[in-house]
Amino acid sequence: MEKDDIMWWFTEEQKKLLKEVSQFVEDNIEEAEVYYAKKEVPWPLIRKIAEKGYFGAAIPKEYGGMDLGVTGSAIVSEQIGRLMSVTSAFVATLIGGLSQILKFGTEEQKHKWLSIIARGESLGAVCITEPFAGSDAANVMTTAVRDGDEWVLNGKKRFISSGDIAGRFFVYAKTSDDPTIRKNYGHLSSFVVEKGTPGFSLERINSIMGTENSGNVYLSFNDVRIPDENRIGAVGKGWTIMMAGLNFERIMNNLAVLGGIADVIKLLFHYTKRRIQFNRTTSQIPRIQELTAEIISQYRMVRVFNYNCAKQMDLGQEPTIDISIGKWIEGEYIRDIGLKAVQIMGGDGIMDYYPINRLIMIGKMNEIAAGSTETQKLIVYRFSSLKYNKPFRLRWNEEVNKALISKKKSQFKGLDVNDENVLKVIAHDYKVNPALYMTPEDVRQDIGGKASALIEVFENLEKEKLIVTRRDRTGKINLVKASYIGLKRAFPEEYYRWFPSSYKDEMKF
Ligand SMILES: Cc1cc2nc3c(=O)[nH]c(=O)nc-3n(C[C@H](O)[C@H](O)[C@H](O)COP(=O)(O)OP(=O)(O)OC[C@H]3O[C@@H](n4cnc5c(N)ncnc54)[C@H](O)[C@@H]3O)c2cc1C
Repeated sequence: MEKDDIMWWFTEEQKKLLKEVSQFVEDNIEEAEVYYAKKEVPWPLIRKIAEKGYFGAAIPKEYGGMDLGVTGSAIVSEQIGRLMSVTSAFVATLIGGLSQILKFGTEEQKHKWLSIIARGESLGAVCITEPFAGSDAANVMTTAVRDGDEWVLNGKKRFISSGDIAGRFFVYAKTSDDPTIRKNYGHLSSFVVEKGTPGFSLERINSIMGTENSGNVYLSFNDVRIPDENRIGAVGKGWTIMMAGLNFERIMNNLAVLGGIADVIKLLFHYTKRRIQFNRTTSQIPRIQELTAEIISQYRMVRVFNYNCAKQMDLGQEPTIDISIGKWIEGEYIRDIGLKAVQIMGGDGIMDYYPINRLIMIGKMNEIAAGSTETQKLIVYRFSSLKYNKPFRLRWNEEVNKALISKKKSQFKGLDVNDENVLKVIAHDYKVNPALYMTPEDVRQDIGGKASALIEVFENLEKEKLIVTRRDRTGKINLVKASYIGLKRAFPEEYYRWFPSSYKDEMKF
C-alpha cells in the first residue's frame, strides 16, 4: 500500500494493521489462487486466517476478538478479499450474526457465540432469503413455533452463501401470523441454528459464476428443535435485528469485494507494458490509457466512499443512505471495471487464464446479493425522503418579479382562516408554482391557524368547486390546488400574468 492508499483518518494502529494483513495476504495469495483454480474449499487458508484472529476483527476483546471497530474490520475485510477463494467464507462469517449478536444478544450469548466466531471455530452463514422471499425479505415463510423451552422451525432458505461449509446459521423465521403485527414488522424473530441439529439439512448446492470454489445453498428445516437460548433478541424483533445488521454487513462485503481491484490494476499495467501491437505497447494507445484511468478512478472513488461510511459508523452514526449508495455504485463499478479490464486485455481477458473476467461476474453478483441495486435505490429514496423532504418554499419576489427560494413569511400570514383568504393563498400558489398542488401544511404555514379549521375550509371550497383536493386511502385531504373557477374568483386575471421585461407591451394579448 502506498501512502495515498491510506485514508488520512486512519490511526497509527490501523496503518499498522493494514501493513500486517496486507503482508499476510501477499504471503498467501498464490495458495488462494490454487484453491480457486481447483474449485476447492480453502480449509488450510481458512485455518490460517482463524489463527491470525481475523474472524474476530469486529469482536470486542472481552469476547476474544481483536476489537478493531468498523474501520479496522473493513481494513481486514478489504485485504482478505484479495484472497478471492476465501472472500465468500470470510464475509459470510463476518455477517452471519456477528453484529446482530453483538447488538442484541445477552451477555451469555455473546460469550458463547462471539468467542466461537473470533476463534474461527465454526464458519457462519446468514439465512434471510427463501424461495418465495427475495427482495421482499419481510415475506419470510419459515416458521418458528414455541414449544416450552424450545422453538420448532419449519421451512426452507435459499441462496445462502457458504452454507455448505458453515457450522452456525443465523436464521430469520416467522413467529406471528397476526396481520396487525405483520403490518408493524413484528412477525419475525432471529435464531442461531447449528449444523447437526436434527431435521436441519442441506437441500442443494449451487456454485456461483465468478467464485466457483464457494458454494451457495438451499437449506431445509424439518421440525428443527432449538433451545430458546438460541433466540437472539426479543420475539418479534427479527426485522429490527435484520435491518440493524445490514449497514455493517454491506461495508464488510463492499470492502472485501474491492480488495482485489488494486491487484487487477497492477496486472493491467504489467500486461499492457509488455504487449506490442502496431509496433508500440498497448499501454501507449490513448484509448487503453483512458480505460485504465477510468478503472482507477472508479476504484478509488468507491473505496474512499466506503471507508468514509466505516468511519461514520465508528463515530456512532448509521449512514444508511451512503452505505446503500456505496453498495449500489460498487456493484456497477466492479462489473464495469471487469468489462473494461477484459477490453484492455482483448482475448487474454476473455480466456479463463488471467484473473480478470471473474470481475464481471463478481460485480454482477454484487448488484444482486445482499440486496439488489434496485433495493438499494429504494432505501436511498425512502431514507432520503425523511432527510430531505423538509419545509422548502419559493415565494414571489416583487423586486425581480419571479419566484425565489425564500425564508420570508407569506404575505397572507395572520389573516382570518376563512373561505376567501384560504382560496387566495391557494390561488396565489398558482402564480408561484403553476403546476403544483399544496399540502395542507403548506397552506397552514402561509396563513396560520389550526389544521382542523383549514380542513373545514378545504371541504367548503371543494363543495363550491373552487379547489380540487386529493385524498389518501383513509379519505384525509393531503393535497389541494385551485380550480380554474377558484383562480378566477381569487384574483383578477392580471395577477397571474408574467412576461419577460424584453416582451413588448404592444405584443401582449
Ligand atoms: C451470490 C449471492 C449470494 C447470496 N447470499 C445470501 C446469503 O448469504 N443469505 C441470504 O439470506 N441471501 C443471500 N442472497 C440472496 C440475495 O439477498 C437475494 O438474491 C436478493 O435480495 C434479491 O432477491 P431475489 O434474487 O429473490 O430476486 P427478486 O427479489 O425476485 O428480484 C428480481 C429482480 O426484481 C427486482 N425487484 C424486486 N422487487 C423490486 C421492487 N420493489 N422495485 C424494483 N425492483 C425490484 C430486483 O432488484 C431484481 O432485479 C444471495 C444472493 C446471491 C446472488
